[in-house]
Amino acid sequence: MEQESHIAILPSPGMGHLIPIVELAKRLALHHNFRVTCLIPTTGTPSNAIKGVLEGLPAGIDHVFLPPVSLEDVSGALPGIQVSLTMTRSMPSVRHMLKSLAETTRLVAVILDHSASDALNIAKELNVSSYIFFPSNALALSLLLHLPELDKTIPCEYRDLPEPLKLSGCIPIHGRDLMDPIQDRKGEWYRLFLRLTEQLRLAEGIMVNTFMDLQERAIKALADEEARNPPLYPIGPMIKTGQSTDQVEGWECLRWLDNLQSGSVLFVSFGSGGTLSSDQLEELASGLELSGQKFLWVARRPNNDLANAAYLSNQSHEDPPAFLPQGFIERTKVQGLVVSSWAPQVQVLSHSSTGGFLTHCGWNSILESIVNGVPLIAWPLYSEQRMNAILLVEDLKVALRPKTNEKSIVNREEIAKVIRGLMVGEEGKRVHNHMKELKIAAKKALREDGSSTRALSVLASKLAFNTK
Ligand code: UDP
Repeated sequence: MEQESHIAILPSPGMGHLIPIVELAKRLALHHNFRVTCLIPTTGTPSNAIKGVLEGLPAGIDHVFLPPVSLEDVSGALPGIQVSLTMTRSMPSVRHMLKSLAETTRLVAVILDHSASDALNIAKELNVSSYIFFPSNALALSLLLHLPELDKTIPCEYRDLPEPLKLSGCIPIHGRDLMDPIQDRKGEWYRLFLRLTEQLRLAEGIMVNTFMDLQERAIKALADEEARNPPLYPIGPMIKTGQSTDQVEGWECLRWLDNLQSGSVLFVSFGSGGTLSSDQLEELASGLELSGQKFLWVARRPNNDLANAAYLSNQSHEDPPAFLPQGFIERTKVQGLVVSSWAPQVQVLSHSSTGGFLTHCGWNSILESIVNGVPLIAWPLYSEQRMNAILLVEDLKVALRPKTNEKSIVNREEIAKVIRGLMVGEEGKRVHNHMKELKIAAKKALREDGSSTRALSVLASKLAFNTK
């Protein structure tokens, strides 16, 4: 009997990368009959949130935690550097696992997070096809694919460019709004990141978590450069499905939403790792209160140094009164609910009482909002989120964005104004209407004959008949 076709997938640490690639694994197993093994890099005991995503996966998907790598020598480094080094240092175990899978199964491909591009060479050695899964959008991917040539042609820091950068098919973005890793060209992070982007073209194809109707011009521009870029497969939106145990703690917030009016609640969350400074946290609390709108806020202890301080840490469930302004919880107990660190976000966004989402603009959060037709307030914090915010506000027109003051703080009056604008204002109606159109387009992309379903089917057939 012919052996099942097997695919190995390799995500990078961080929920925003793990969640969509695991969804891809589910589609490959359930719709295309592949056996899938997820290789999970670790630096210690995996968090409950990670275990929650991996628990109860359907038959046909296994996961293996790779031996933890030590980051003791770089414990004070930026989370982005730590992620990069976790991947590099995990490569000996990745090689070992892939070799063993190639010897014992019909391994037809490895699918890698873009930060695992070192594994492209390992796959080549083992004569296994290799693909990248890019968890963000076509604008960010375009920047990654063009970075090696930008590095050669642009002499200054990108933030000092006099004109916005115009990538083909994409909205122009000012250098200061480009993604974090490239903001300091003399730094270690830039060096690691540039090397990673130089390797991307070794992949046989790149899957990207977007869809044709969302980013048609950017996708087509990348496809037109196919002589230089690997073939592109827009297969999104891949968003979290099913429920997992990490969500049990936030369950009470769904019951709270049950009793409220349709579309009346603003959901406020900064992703799996976003943190605000203490001044900004105080302004946000006051702004929410001042807006008079109902809110559900996933709050985290402030951090004055980093905007993604919680990105790699285990979720700590600290009591919000310990770090919110005195008396805030008591004063807003009818108006809002504050939960600590983590909420079942997909369920919250699909709840009929949720009418808006103040988000840090992580790409998964954006896709989850699109799928549920929830309009946004864009509050970018780190990574490629400033680019995403510009895409949402200026190109797709599905978000409002508050202005910062001269101290780079969004003050309470501005917050209250934008919240009211979204929830009860005319501008809110406009962005809501655009969001409803995107919701329909997302659904269409995932229909049996939809663009994303077809893109994944083309790739799956290619892999199933792979005789490499
Ligand atoms: N998430 C969640 N509950 C939370 C915070 C985040 O379920 O309280 C999930 C969210 O639904 C999304 C992911 O974690 O799937 C965060 O990914 P995103 O790309 O939005 O941001 P990141 O955390 O990677 O910056």
